[in-house]
Amino acid sequence: MTAAERQPTTPPASAVLTALLQAADQEVPTAIALRRELHAAPELGGHETRTASQVAAALGEPSAPSVTTGRLVRIGAASGPSVAIRAELDALPLTEQTPVAWASRNGASHSCGHDVHLAALTAAGRAVRRVGGPLPLVAVLQPREESNPSGAQDMVGSPQLEAQDVRAVVGVHVHPHVARGQVSAGPGPVNAAYDEVTITVRGRGGHAAYPHETRDPVLAAAHVILALQHLISRRTDPMHSAVLTIGTVQAGTAANVIPEQVVLTGSLRTFDPADRASLPSAVSATAGATAEAYECTAQASFTRGEPVLNNDPALATAAAACLAQAGLRVVEPLRSCGSDDFAYYCARYPSLMMFAGVGQPGTPDGPGLHHPSFLPPEEAVGEVARAMLAGYVAACSVALSGAAQAHRDAADRMRIAPDGGGRGQR
Ligand SMILES: [Zn+2]
Repeated sequence: MTAAERQPTTPPASAVLTALLQAADQEVPTAIALRRELHAAPELGGHETRTASQVAAALGEPSAPSVTTGRLVRIGAASGPSVAIRAELDALPLTEQTPVAWASRNGASHSCGHDVHLAALTAAGRAVRRVGGPLPLVAVLQPREESNPSGAQDMVGSPQLEAQDVRAVVGVHVHPHVARGQVSAGPGPVNAAYDEVTITVRGRGGHAAYPHETRDPVLAAAHVILALQHLISRRTDPMHSAVLTIGTVQAGTAANVIPEQVVLTGSLRTFDPADRASLPSAVSATAGATAEAYECTAQASFTRGEPVLNNDPALATAAAACLAQAGLRVVEPLRSCGSDDFAYYCARYPSLMMFAGVGQPGTPDGPGLHHPSFLPPEEAVGEVARAMLAGYVAACSVALSGAAQAHRDAADRMRIAPDGGGRGQR
């Protein structure tokens, strides 16, 4: 092999990224216009077909294959290894409270920034289509991120995604806890595992004036809520992050009636697998024993959600250099008990979730994710697109070096094999 033949067939990653960033910058005005359209007409989880069609069309493939209400758009060679970027299609059932002319008026709201992610992905994808990339890009337009069971479970393991030969998955989520122009791309666990609990406390209803003739489930439920907190503060290692939040309490229908039952729902978030395994039975036992003290009963049931979101260390390291090249400052990793179904991709592929800053200095109490006033600035579209491209180029370089290493390993095995040192050697 001559020296010329040993030259890589693609330009160095830095040159590719520079060209992609320049191309994406030219796509940003179109992407911002799309963001406004998506924002004005959001769709709830399970109903995102129009949103998916609009984004697929913007990515140049209106007839891209569907996966439930999502789509997969492949840009580049039709076969062979690829890198995927995930963006979420769904909005929240919230009445928007922002002053912009393009605010939603249909009772749903893009209050988690998914409109920004989708628009940014079109800018990034169109840049890859124009410039080319080290590996094909698969835009994963994922439904139902905010639901349980979530849309990531439709995608991960589906024949359509398996056919893409995905070697790494990249995600970017806007985050108000990170300042504008900054990105968190930390290795390891960054989001918690998520499970939901429903607790039904049953007693004996009756007249509010004669409580001694009843078994008041409201009083019992109040003590259950308090008692459950000791599972985090006294039964969980203080070095392990975990949180149990009771989010709904449904009791009676009248001020002068003691009801028959109270239903509590909540979320349990953990990082340690042993905590995730043991806390549900502790919740059941504590709720049951506490209710029993008030001559009531309590039964708990759990719905399992996503696992811990684990960022691949090699991708995080590679992305840091590319993010800097993209003009984004890499900051201390943001780790929280938030959860994201991107964790399912992490469990199947080397993956990297980045948090792109939309926080404004001096406004620490500004509206957060899922608040009806949350509205990332328009500049976020270009910044998220840059972060996506940085992650994509980083993931391509890691995937290609991994493939090159596997090739070298195979060649080494071939060299050992003829003298009997290969197969079965220990
Ligand atoms: Zn979100």
